[in-house]
Formats: sequence, C-alpha cells, structure tokens
Amino acid sequence: VLEMGTPDRSVVTTCAYCGVGCSFKAEMQGDQLVRMVPYKHGKANRGHSCVKGRFAYGYATHRDRILNPMIRDTVAEPWREVSWTEALDFAAAKMRGIQEKYGRKSIGVITSSRCTNEETFLVQKLARAVFGNNNTDTCARVCHSPTGYGLGQTFGTSAGTQDFDSVEHSDVVMVIGANPTDGHPVFASRLRKRLRQGATLIVVDPRRIDLLETPHMGAGHHLALKPGTNVAVVSAIAHVIVTEGLMDAAFIAERCDGEAWEDYRAFIADPRHSPEAVAPLTGVPADKLREAARAFATGGNGAIYYGLGVTEHSQGSTTVMGIANLAMLTGNVGRPGVGVNPLRGQNNVQGSCDMGSFPHELPGYRHVKLPEVRKIFEDTWGVEIDPEPGLRIPNMLDAAVDGTFRGLYCQGEDILQSDPDTKHVAAGLAAMDCVIVHDLFLNETANYAHVFLPGSSFLEKDGTFTNAERRINRVRRVMAPKNGHADWEVTQMLANAMGAGWSYTHPAEIMAEIAATTPSFAGVDYALLEEKGSVQWPCNEAHPDGTPLMHVDGFVRGKGRFIVTEYVATDEKTGPRFPLLLTTGRILSQYNVGAQTRRTENVVWHDQDVLEIHPHDAENRGLRDGDWVRLASRSGETSLRAKITDRVSPGTVYTTFHHPDTQANVITTDYSDWATNCPEYKVTAVQVSPSNGP
Ligand code: SF4
Repeated sequence: VLEMGTPDRSVVTTCAYCGVGCSFKAEMQGDQLVRMVPYKHGKANRGHSCVKGRFAYGYATHRDRILNPMIRDTVAEPWREVSWTEALDFAAAKMRGIQEKYGRKSIGVITSSRCTNEETFLVQKLARAVFGNNNTDTCARVCHSPTGYGLGQTFGTSAGTQDFDSVEHSDVVMVIGANPTDGHPVFASRLRKRLRQGATLIVVDPRRIDLLETPHMGAGHHLALKPGTNVAVVSAIAHVIVTEGLMDAAFIAERCDGEAWEDYRAFIADPRHSPEAVAPLTGVPADKLREAARAFATGGNGAIYYGLGVTEHSQGSTTVMGIANLAMLTGNVGRPGVGVNPLRGQNNVQGSCDMGSFPHELPGYRHVKLPEVRKIFEDTWGVEIDPEPGLRIPNMLDAAVDGTFRGLYCQGEDILQSDPDTKHVAAGLAAMDCVIVHDLFLNETANYAHVFLPGSSFLEKDGTFTNAERRINRVRRVMAPKNGHADWEVTQMLANAMGAGWSYTHPAEIMAEIAATTPSFAGVDYALLEEKGSVQWPCNEAHPDGTPLMHVDGFVRGKGRFIVTEYVATDEKTGPRFPLLLTTGRILSQYNVGAQTRRTENVVWHDQDVLEIHPHDAENRGLRDGDWVRLASRSGETSLRAKITDRVSPGTVYTTFHHPDTQANVITTDYSDWATNCPEYKVTAVQVSPSNGP
C-alpha cells in the first residue's frame, strides 16, 4: 500500500526530519509522489534511510493542509479566506500599526529549523531590515541553543567538529544524552558498525539505550546518572583524567590557552569532583566513573556525540563546555575519529543557527554589537541595524504579558505545543494584537492567530538544509507549492507589503547574498552544490571544497579555551509529593510532537506514548504493565499507560512526547539554561499513581 505506481521521473532532494540530512530520490508519476528512494550518492546516508524519511511524507498532501490565506480581527471570530494580497496587506497594516503605537521593538519573528537556509535568512532579515530590531529567534532556542553558546566559548564556533565518516576511525565513542537508534537512525547504523568492529562505547544517560545491546561490540559502559547531574558526571571523568595524569599534555600546551588551562586544572583537580564525591548525587558508582574515564582517555581516538539530554537542562551550556573540555583534555580534536558532535534534532537546526536567527547574532555567529559586522549587512541591505540584541522567545512572551510586545510572525513553528509552560505561552499569545502563523496546518498556536499564511512542505521547497555535520544539501522542488507560493516568497511579500522593495526571483539569489555577507559561506553557490552534491562549511577561498574536519591546525578562536564548569543543582527538586524524576525522548517512527508523522502511514507504529517505570517503583504503586497512570508535576498532569521496565533506574521515569494527548509540556517546568534560556525539558519531579485513564 505504501508503494504504488510506476515512476516517470525523479528528483533528488533531502529528508526534512532529522539532522542526519539523508538524500532521497523522490520518484514521481505525473504530479504524484510514488515513493522516496534513499539516494546512494548522498554523502550523509550513502543509500541508507530510516522509516521516517522513507515512508513518512504523506503529510505533505494531507487533507488537513490549509492552502488559502485567512484573516480575522479577533481570535473569537471565525477565519475568513482571503487573497494573498488582502492577507498580507492586513498583516502589514497590523504590524505597522503596532509599531506606530508601541515602538519599533514591539514586534518580532520566530523562524524554524524545518525551513531552508534561504527562508530563514529572509525571516531574520525581515526583523532586522524591515521591523528595525533584532527580535528574531528560532526553535533551536528550545533544543541546541546551549551548543551555540558552549562551543562558541570553548572552540570559537557553534558546530560539530567532524563529518559522519569520522566515526569509522573512532576507538572509543562517548554518547551523552542521546539515543541515536531512535533519533538519528542512519548515523546510528554507522556507529553500530564501528562498535561491532570492537570500538568501546560509553553511554551517559539515565536510561539504558539500545546501542548498549549492540551485538559483538567492544566494551560497554553505562553511566546511568540521575537526571540533571550531567555536569557532575562530566567533571568527575575530567577529574580522573587530570589527577591520574591521563591528559594529552602536548596537545594542551600547543593548542590551548595556557592561563585558562591552569585555572581549569586547579578547579577540576579539587577532590569535590572526584568520582567518590559525586557518586551519591549522580547515582553513578565511583568505580564505573573511573573505568569510563580511563577508557576514554587511554582507548585511542575518542569521539563524543551528544543530544538534547545534554542541552535541555538548566546547566545545558555548562555541560556542552564540559564536553569540549574533555575533548581538549584528551587531545581529541582536529583529526578523524575524534571530536565533539552535537546530534541535531531537526533537519536544519545547524542552518537556522548559521543564518543569524538568534537575537544577538548576525549570520555566521557574529555579534550584532560589532560595528564592522553590522556594516557588512547595512551596506548590503541599505538600512541601519540596531546594535542592541533583541528578545529571545521566552522574553517575547514575557514582554507580551507585560504589554510591550504586541506582534509576531511565526514561520514553521508551533510554539504553543513545543515551548515550555504552555499556560504562559498561551497568555503571551493571547495578549498580542497580531499573531501571524505561517505553517502547513492550523496548529495549536494558530488558535491565537489573526493571520494564517499557508506554508509549503519540503517536497515543494527549493533551497538548502545544513545537517549536523555542517553539510549544505540541496532541497529540490519535487512538486509545485500547493498554496501557490514558496515560503521565501511569502516572507518577501510580507516585507514588501511593509514597504521593503525586495526582488528575489529564486532562492539561489538569496544564497548569493548569504555568501556575500558570511565568510564561512563565501564559496557556496548552487552551481558548486550541483557539481559536488553537497559541501560542508566553512566553504570559501581557503577551503574551496568545504571542510569535513574543523579545528585541524588551530581552533576557530585561536587557542582552545578550557572553561571552569561548576555543578549547580537544578531548582527542580524531588520531595514527598513528587518523588520521581521524569525525562523524555523519541521513538524511531515518530517525530517531535507528531504534527507530520501522525499524518502519515507511520502512525501504525505508534498509537500512544507510554510511561516507562522501574519494576520497584511500579510495585510500590501497585501498578501492572499496561495500567493507566496519572502523571502529575507541580505544573500539570496527564494520563498514560505504564510500561514496566528496568531500562530506567529506580527513581526515574521516561516517556516520549509524540502523541497530542500526552501534552508533555503541560508537565514540564519553566526552568531553563542559565546562558540561553533553553528549557529544562529533561528533568521534572513527578508523582505517578494508578488512574482509570484520561
Ligand atoms: Fe530522515 Fe534522519 Fe531518517 Fe535520514 S535518519 S531518513 S534524515 S529521519
């Protein structure tokens, strides 16, 4: 049923789910997509794929898609279908009216990691060049913003250091807070192959993930830490390496900032970071910590891969810096088989950050306060750029509740479902005078919108995505936009309705502007991408064929910088009422809150989220496998069925968040990373009790 018809043409494009960035041949019969065939020349996947990229594309033609623009004066009114011109004039008048009444900084934009680089570049340009402020943020705020901060501070740029091929040279692989088998399946296959060849695996995760069951692998270490204690575990590993003299002294002397290293050495050698000292708070036995530290430091090429189990914490940025410290400490940077590798969740998280979506950075991770950087864009765009950083998503919502932020253009992101503290998000949206939602479906955020602009799916897009290894892949139009306009055209029409005068006729022209203004993209153009298939940035005069491995001879910032990483316990505490800690993750067939995968055949593999609970905790509550339970936190509650398993430790429970009934963000707290406001989704104190179901 999934594959039918005989194709008469095919188009090579890129999967729009995860940060692996697999290439596919979309095989077409007329204007119907017959099947997605993994592309054997795709450099990220080499002919492999997972069940999401292969089968979960039906949402693109789903009957729930909205194809005509709609407006309404208040959210209490029904939607009115109108022409594009009327919708955009309505939106522009509202946004201009807000600025006249409340000031230039009273409106902003949110971009999406689902969108192309070119679309994202234009949305942040809309804020900076048309709205006249830096109120631009991206959904990466809620996933990998700590990567941006942490790797920027230590290495000088926010990007994974390796290509995926690198893992074939790894001898020890540390996976922290990630479950590649479900989250990044095609990369996981390559990693498993290396493990079967004898590489050692160290998993730092509250839950026993599938990778640890890889047949015939080398040694396996599982540090089953208590959620929220990543920094203490990473510091204990570093402590062992330093105090047992296992560090790479030559690398540190040659490649790292000496003063920062001396400060860090004095800090990390302190006995309070020893495995024995941290074992009670992390729940990881001291001998296991020591064994893992020795294995990583002495096992040969050591690579670290990490995911949202690192970033989505109140100390997310601190853990990222701790990971970078570990890599520098052991000399594991700058050659194949080593490095620090954030596993990006969405298809274009890397690209959305590269394109200047954050409120403090222009494209290429350059701070808006730098006059020489602003000048590049001011000269290109013919406007003056505000030197003051703008508002992050949570600050926009706070300001909305306070009455100073009144208008939002939100492209490809359902903040009501995906951001923390649902009640606060709703209150912020409800307080705004104009919410413009640009999306495929009438999502939850659209309940608070005044303008709905239909978006286009990845099959209708033309542009580029950048995957987790900095690889810029072409996304090619497989079918004409069902809504009549590409997303970059819609942003351009909105800008022009507000008086901008933009005149792009093809996304290649937007990429030319990105290349002209952003040194790491200076050599990128569509002709090069056609010729090479893809390139990894930096791609410029110094690296005309792109850069598979970063920091080879020196770090982007010059000398690598060790950072002191003090562990600070999260404010989210267990207690008599909420004695367990909830953490979350994904399953292979589904994606995030399920907006896409639930509208595809993949729904057959997942009809509900379940709560994994350890047999001891289940027994204490009189629960049997499959029973309904009430899961309650200080923020809210929901109902799920229990799955009794020793994959989780006593005291920890786990669920996925794919099904809308689960409403995981009703449960989560409003704590966030100290440096970036990335929400602390991975630690919530909860109570689990028997229930009769929802
Ligand atoms: Fe798509 Fe990621 Fe699966 Fe590749 S691994 S097919 S990019 S979801």
